[in-house]
Amino acid sequence: MKRKGLLIILSSPSGAGKSSLAKRLMQWDPTLRFSVSATTRKPRNGEVDGKDYYFRSRDAFEAMVAAGEMLEHAEVFGNFYGSPKGPVEQAMEEGRDTLFDIDWQGGQQIRRSSLAKDVVSIFILPPSIADLEARLRNRAQDSDEVIAGRMAKSRDEISHWGEYDYVIINRDLDVAEEELKTILKAERAKADRQPSLTEFVRGLNAEFDKR
Ligand code: GDP
Ligand code: ADP
Repeated sequence: MKRKGLLIILSSPSGAGKSSLAKRLMQWDPTLRFSVSATTRKPRNGEVDGKDYYFRSRDAFEAMVAAGEMLEHAEVFGNFYGSPKGPVEQAMEEGRDTLFDIDWQGGQQIRRSSLAKDVVSIFILPPSIADLEARLRNRAQDSDEVIAGRMAKSRDEISHWGEYDYVIINRDLDVAEEELKTILKAERAKADRQPSLTEFVRGLNAEFDKR
């Protein structure tokens, strides 16, 4: 029997490093599927439609929601974001884990859905608010106004840290990456996440019987 894929949810205030960590995790394990969200926000420099996000008009986004195509969706920073359901269901059936970079509202919706037992949620904190702001500025992708808006929301996002299974403080990216991998390895090793164990142990018993 194949195991069902996990839903790995990464949330953090904007700029704490979840996209960077998600990219590293995907490189480490190419079997992971990244859940490409749909959004009504405009693409940043270098962002690719279908890879970073599905960039959609408000109408197209609302049509996806109305058609029941979203696993969860929420308004964040004045734009709509949502996780398309189809690819997640497919990945779960194939026994592949899916990685989500979504906010606390999306995390809550998935945790409260019928998929709850397959969820592993991780909250990423910045080492300080000064660092958080410096990272948003260094990323050099958003205007001062957009950065101010994101900073203003970060306190609210951070207030949800206690709803997550794990919390990582992203001081050093390499260390945070190692912590994330450790979490994933441990979650995958849980007994009830290894359905092939029954057969494996049957094999061990058959060996005993032959001795
Ligand atoms: P950044 O993550 O700060 O670089 O900015 P983005 O505009 O890419 O994302 C803004 C927020 O929306 C972040 O907190 C994302 O995690 C969140 N987000 C992205 N996709 C989704 C989604 O599909 N659903 C939900 N609920 N949140 C999302
Ligand atoms: P998020 O997806 O949470 O908004 P990003 O992954 O885009 O955050 O990171 C924001 C910026 O901070 C990026 O320029 C990234 O390279 C940088 N960054 C991420 N983690 C660290 C870290 N541990 N130390 C220094 N800079 C970091």
